[in-house]
Amino acid sequence: MKCAPFRVELPSTVDEVVAALVEHGEDAKILAGGQSLIPMLAMRLARFDVLIDVHHVDGLASIQLDQNTIRIGSRVRQSEIERSDVIKRHLPVLAEATALIGHFQIRNRGTIGGSLVHADPAAEYPAVALALGATFEVTGPAGTRVIPAADFFLGYWTTALTDDEVLVAIHFPIPEGKRVGMTVKEVARRHGDFALAGAVASIGLDPSGAIVETAIALFSAADQPLRLTEMEAALTGHSPDSLDIPALSAAAAAGLAPGDDLHGSADFRRHLFRHLIADVAAEAITRAQEATNV
Ligand SMILES: Cc1cc2nc3c(=O)[nH]c(=O)nc-3n(C[C@H](O)[C@H](O)[C@H](O)COP(=O)(O)OP(=O)(O)OC[C@H]3O[C@@H](n4cnc5c(N)ncnc54)[C@H](O)[C@@H]3O)c2cc1C
Repeated sequence: MKCAPFRVELPSTVDEVVAALVEHGEDAKILAGGQSLIPMLAMRLARFDVLIDVHHVDGLASIQLDQNTIRIGSRVRQSEIERSDVIKRHLPVLAEATALIGHFQIRNRGTIGGSLVHADPAAEYPAVALALGATFEVTGPAGTRVIPAADFFLGYWTTALTDDEVLVAIHFPIPEGKRVGMTVKEVARRHGDFALAGAVASIGLDPSGAIVETAIALFSAADQPLRLTEMEAALTGHSPDSLDIPALSAAAAAGLAPGDDLHGSADFRRHLFRHLIADVAAEAITRAQEATNV
């Protein structure tokens, strides 16, 4: 099938993007890399008269290191994140997660902002943003506001962004003052497919080696990325040697209600999560023990 006809507008500032969104209302949609939006239009799952192309908008396409934060413009392409020296040095898990997204042709066009706003529950970036405590810089007619990742994802393909707001940048905190290990793993039917099950972990250790901070987030586990708060609480405050991580992971996975579809049953997915959760927790601990970022 082919897309229904649409007109493209090419604003050059964020204010112009907001003005176009306000003017056209629900007839308009922002176009970033087009890797989710264009297939939806082509399959006639959605129809918009106006696409607001953000490729020429100032200030959306840079990766900036600012003391203990990395600010990534929403239009930064996934392939740039995968290759960025700043990301590989300070938040390597973000580069690792990017390599799991589709194929390189997708990553060459797809943007981080497009993926986060599209909010596919099987996508890697939303879970990474949730686990790492990212915040979203959003501009609309009333000005700029900041939304924590924990409040951004609301359900299947749904976020806290209103129709007249644009995602400008994502801020990722860089861990300080402790050794932190992070990792991401997933299972997909074929390389490049969306994950059947995926997990991200970030674990911090104090100088004695005890766990002082834990974040574990899952993707493809529910209608939005999910934090394992009970398992996080069970790990935090303990020495890794004293923990039965496989048992904690099995308990966490047993409490999940993942999708049950032609790609995999809920039981199969729980089985995958049981192992993925244990694997990311163990690897994050090992990476933290080897880390020098005290
Ligand atoms: C074959 C294939 C395989 C894929 N596999 C994966 C995968 O394994 N994992 C994965 O995570 N993704 C996967 N994707 C999706 C891919 O990552 C997309 O690039 C991403 O979901 C959307 O990014 P985009 O820049 O292309 O956004 P677009 O498609 O241009 O836009 C997506 C949505 O976000 C909105 N939007 C975009 N930017 C902004 C902004 N700055 N402010 C407000 N709204 C905005 C758009 O209006 C639209 O609603 C796959 C895609 C394809 C085609």
